Amino acid sequence: MLTLACALRTSGPYPPSVLLFTLSNALAGDPLSFVTELRCVACGKNWPIRVPYTCPACGVTGILDVLYDYRAIRRSLTRRALASRADFSHWRYRELLPLSARSVLPHLQVGWSPLSETVALARHLGLRSLYIKDDGRNPSGSLKDRASSIAVVRAREKRNPIVACASTGNAASSLAGMAAAMGLRSVIFVPQRAPEPKITQLLIFGATVFRVLGGYDDAFRLSQECCERFGWYNRNCAINPYLVEGKKTVSLEIAEQLQWNVPDWVAMSVGDGCSIAAAWKAFRELKLLGLIERTPRMLGVQAAGAAPITTAFRSGKPLWPVVPQTIADSIAVGVPRNWQKAVLAIRESGGTMLNVADGEILDAMGYTGQLAGIFAEPAAAASIAGLKRAVAEDIVPKRARAVAVVTGSGLKDIRAAQTAVSKPFDVSPDGHELDQILHDRQLV
Ligand SMILES: *Cc1c(COP(=O)(O)O)cnc(C)c1O
Repeated sequence: MLTLACALRTSGPYPPSVLLFTLSNALAGDPLSFVTELRCVACGKNWPIRVPYTCPACGVTGILDVLYDYRAIRRSLTRRALASRADFSHWRYRELLPLSARSVLPHLQVGWSPLSETVALARHLGLRSLYIKDDGRNPSGSLKDRASSIAVVRAREKRNPIVACASTGNAASSLAGMAAAMGLRSVIFVPQRAPEPKITQLLIFGATVFRVLGGYDDAFRLSQECCERFGWYNRNCAINPYLVEGKKTVSLEIAEQLQWNVPDWVAMSVGDGCSIAAAWKAFRELKLLGLIERTPRMLGVQAAGAAPITTAFRSGKPLWPVVPQTIADSIAVGVPRNWQKAVLAIRESGGTMLNVADGEILDAMGYTGQLAGIFAEPAAAASIAGLKRAVAEDIVPKRARAVAVVTGSGLKDIRAAQTAVSKPFDVSPDGHELDQILHDRQLV
């Protein structure tokens, strides 16, 4: 395979994967398949796309990164081409996704979630300008739909009728929903403390659900074993290189929705680490393709009780697993598999990581709802809590333009939300208590 060094080379320790143009299999065949090869994040070796999951040389620690023919993509994915595309979903970026011309897509609308400027919330955080990218508005209520939609497309292409994953909740409900939309069956492993609403969502979508009497890491291991044993299509982002490609589209949308004027900072919460790594990969790709002039800094936010990636980021040492302890279940990951990708991505962006306490997360759920009308689940509100702290600590300057990604809807876990708010006022049908309460609340 012929490789040409890229002219837009940027500095940084990130593996040189996206720094290479590769002469394509796109030119040689399927016009929509711009994927050229897979590169191991650990050893740097390239592999052909028929390698199904992790690096054959490194085994499970060898997470693969998908490489594209950027030279060919550059010709077809222009600002003008995008402006004329009527498909307002994440499939509008098909060149940067592992799809072929034959790909059958689910009918659910994934992506193109609203990006709205929130003046009152910006003021509360002390920022000049703040946008919320509300990914709670995806079909199953979280950013995970971006990845799961890719999983079901790939499973179907491989004629695999059963898809499986382990998840603290959102990846699972999302996979189950997407599988239902595609006529596939799903088998899901959840940890014991997965919130009831997320489990209910799974069951509604017809999944076979195994609640593992242990933590996420136990559920992960069991699902791995079963995928190997029974040949199910594996939707675990730590294993399957294609899924994170779907998560890239959140940044592609942010850039396009801001008319290609990227923000100074993008804040996202971090659990396993693949979402923020994917979000950064997209900004790199946009710069490489000449669609944006500069890239934002990434702010990775972890919950203080589950922050092994922040620790690794700060110390420069390998990851030390922790026992997670936080109300933000979607980022309660003690043994993150994609920590290295996340650390490299955030560092390369010129960004940083910080932790927020559960109390700050609950506060953020409250003021985000009150000031912006957006209901974020705890793991999603963590990004806003992190941004608030970053402004207070002068990490993010007050004059900055920032985007916070709300990765999941608050309706997924109302038990956590209930602790963030007060109770309703119980009044009798004749309403004789009303006047006093309205007066106390300064509503009259
Ligand atoms: C999965 C998830 C995250 C974090 O993504 P990782 O890839 O695990 O870092 C954040 N918020 C929500 C709501 C999620 O479901």
